[in-house]
Amino acid sequence: MAGEPQADCLFCKIVTGDIPATVVRETETTVAFRDINPQAPTHVLVIPKVHYPDAASLAAAEPVITADLLREAGQIALDEKITDHGYRIVFNTGAGAGQTVFHAHAHLLGGRGLQWPPG
Ligand code: 5GP
Ligand code: ZN
Repeated sequence: MAGEPQADCLFCKIVTGDIPATVVRETETTVAFRDINPQAPTHVLVIPKVHYPDAASLAAAEPVITADLLREAGQIALDEKITDHGYRIVFNTGAGAGQTVFHAHAHLLGGRGLQWPPG
């Protein structure tokens, strides 16, 4: 069924605690944890507890949870004090755009200068 945990999904296992992660915030619908290979001083992944392969399919099925995800990213940016210099919220979608984990997730990146376009 849509949204159900997937046995072979790394981020579903982080949601259940079967794989450890450095969790920075958790809500009823979301978990946020530090990226294992950080690309900036702050690099946090915000994920829904439900499993959808990417942000667009999450938004189509669960608009309220998608808003939770964005609100959490904004709150973590405040907590990490990265709002003054600006930060980025990225949803890589598809292997060609660098997506490697097919459980929807927002990258929250900040704490350094960020180039645009990102390349
Ligand atoms: P994607 O490339 O799919 O947009 O992002 C996946 C992210 O997950 C990558 O930035 C990668 O470093 C991170 N990642 C992969 N495996 C793990 C893990 O086991 N723990 C944590 N905390 N992050 C992971
Ligand atoms: Zn999953």
